[in-house]
Amino acid sequence: MAAPFLSASARKALLDQALELLLDYYENTHEYRVTPVLDKVAIRDSVREFDFEVMLDPIQSINQVINSLKKYSVHTPHPKYFGLFNPRSNFPSIVSDLITAVFNPQLAAWSHSPFANEVESYLIQALGEKFGFDPAKIDGVFSGGGAEANQTAVLCALNHLVPDYASKGLFGQEKRPLIYCSSESHHSIHKAAMTSGLGNSAVRIIPVTDRLEMDLTRLKQQLERDIADGQKPLMVVATAGTTGVGAIDNLVAIGKMAKQFELWFHVDAAYGGAAVLYPELKPYLGGISEADSITFDAHKWLSVTMGTSLFICSHPDILAKTFRITADYMPKEAKDMDIVDPFSHSIQWSRRALGIKLYLSLLMFGWKGYEEMIGHQTAMGHSLRSELDASGWSIQNSSPFPVVCFTDPIHAKDLAFVPAIIQSVLGSGRSWISSYPIHGIPVMRACITNFETEERHVKELVEELNDARNEYKKIR
Ligand SMILES: *Cc1c(COP(=O)(O)O)cnc(C)c1O
Repeated sequence: MAAPFLSASARKALLDQALELLLDYYENTHEYRVTPVLDKVAIRDSVREFDFEVMLDPIQSINQVINSLKKYSVHTPHPKYFGLFNPRSNFPSIVSDLITAVFNPQLAAWSHSPFANEVESYLIQALGEKFGFDPAKIDGVFSGGGAEANQTAVLCALNHLVPDYASKGLFGQEKRPLIYCSSESHHSIHKAAMTSGLGNSAVRIIPVTDRLEMDLTRLKQQLERDIADGQKPLMVVATAGTTGVGAIDNLVAIGKMAKQFELWFHVDAAYGGAAVLYPELKPYLGGISEADSITFDAHKWLSVTMGTSLFICSHPDILAKTFRITADYMPKEAKDMDIVDPFSHSIQWSRRALGIKLYLSLLMFGWKGYEEMIGHQTAMGHSLRSELDASGWSIQNSSPFPVVCFTDPIHAKDLAFVPAIIQSVLGSGRSWISSYPIHGIPVMRACITNFETEERHVKELVEELNDARNEYKKIR
């Protein structure tokens, strides 16, 4: 067998084997320990067991990869992974990844992959309209993640407000452009500042209120101080669903302030943007329609596989102004056909098709299916809050999203308490939760990210927490 060829029958056997193992994992994820034992040496040894000098049998090769992933992963698709925004992947997007891999559409140029390109344009338009943008002004691009989408936002803001930025960069600017975001915003904003020539110290970190939302009085004071100091406020980033506690900044008020101070208004809705699809939560995003741009991760609450984010903006010309460049070797149809080549709209050049995953999910489930899913997870969040409350835990955040931060009021000031409880829960392998500091004090954080998490999983988690607390009391 000469690489990279496999016979038709070998390919079939390979797929059959992979499918069997994968379906078994997908159906029975709940039977695994959520957390692996992090034995670095054993994991490295298992990767390096093969030196590629001898070709391995295809079936054995598949087994090596799948079985190792089973053994050495945090099983984020597990119904008791109450974790970061890493959902169980929905099945249409899994199948879509396979389909996409086979066709491998090239998303640099429109004419190479017109269907895949039109799918993405259609989804950007549809979601832009859901967020309340003027249909005639919507533009956007798929990106590999929220971090890339946030970086795109910073670059668009610079191109919008700094004359000649695309050609001269920041060279010759007398006033330093500044970014404003809250102390609870995602650190990818800082990364975007670090990698766009602004520098991390161009980020003004605005303190938060008791509700962990950006303090608007402090925002205004900081803006006035910076202007008086001769700086140039560039953009304000509001977060709709912070990573730590699910807080939603006051989008209406921040949007107004952005207008008043002529700032680019970006809403980082990487997680919380999905609320726009669920009527009970949609009002919390009021004001998002006034944004200049939005980051929205389909690989978070919409449960498509990793690497699928949308940057959506309400300025039809800004992406081209930011990223357009001509290259002689690229196809030229764009000019005559009134279509857009994605490479002229994004940081990436060659790019895999991302929209198909969301398109296939929407074809099968519809907006209605997503509405139900988000509704179910929201209900599970409420149920987790009331179970915790009934067992004497105190809830520390006020998000309407299923992100629940809590501690025990008696042990709240005992710095050993939270780590001990988390270690006990993770050590049992039955659930995964994390800790997060609120106003500097660590608390526990549990988020419903899995659409298969049910009432009984929530109850089990609370029992595990109660047991861990009892144990802690005994040894103290
Ligand atoms: C997850 C997250 C990001 C980063 O997105 P990635 O998809 O991980 O790159 C940015 N902002 C917020 C609010 C997030 O929750």
